[in-house]
Amino acid sequence: MNDNVDSHEIEKFDALAHRWWDPNGDFKPLHDINPARLSYISARTDLLAGPVIDIGCGGGILSEAMARAGARVTGLDMAGKALSVARLHAMENEVQIDYQAGTAEAYAAEHANQFSCVTCLEMLEHVANYPSTVQACADLLQPGGDVFFSTINRNPKAYALLVLGAEYIMNILPRGTHEYAKFIKPSELSQAIRGAGLEVLDISGLIYNPFNRQARISRDVDANYLVHARKPAA
Ligand code: SAH
Repeated sequence: MNDNVDSHEIEKFDALAHRWWDPNGDFKPLHDINPARLSYISARTDLLAGPVIDIGCGGGILSEAMARAGARVTGLDMAGKALSVARLHAMENEVQIDYQAGTAEAYAAEHANQFSCVTCLEMLEHVANYPSTVQACADLLQPGGDVFFSTINRNPKAYALLVLGAEYIMNILPRGTHEYAKFIKPSELSQAIRGAGLEVLDISGLIYNPFNRQARISRDVDANYLVHARKPAA
């Protein structure tokens, strides 16, 4: 069930694996936006209510933050080197996280209805078939459970900010991090979420200012945005 993996994407993340935990390195924006996205998530779900799974966890920036907040976290990714870095970092910092290699689809087939919360942040724009990942996230959820997605809108402003601005002008992201055609409009993501049997509860923008390195939740969903959805109670 590895057909929803873009191997070029996984190689890209593996090649950068040693950079995950450098707050001023290639993943700087993820470190900078993490407090804002964690507070969005924890304001909307009880992270202590049950097991949480972080799909496309990479080096574990969000997984660790949720575990530190007291959640029981599983982190799943296809990039083996990123997972090695994640495991080592968690061990060194005495954070308990169950890191697993694999795709959301394969893991969901074995662990359906097991998680009270699923997070899948900044990952959908890197997979071959995002509705399939969304469906897998839905399958992983217990009835009544919450899921959080984040990705990048597809329009000229998002292209200017995320590709031209971040990768070519400001050099805050490695060139080639993002492929414009894989950006996802909120309407398209909402359709995939509803198609997976979930209810969309909120869509909010995430505004990142690379000059002061601050991020905040906003109504402006033109570039990065977060979605909160829920699986109907049984
Ligand atoms: N969610 C993390 C990391 C985002 S980077 C955060 O926001 O901090 C995107 C991650 O998705 C990378 O670690 C990459 O290896 C992973 N990824 C991409 N395609 C994947 C797939 N098909 N299955 C699992 N993980 C995938």
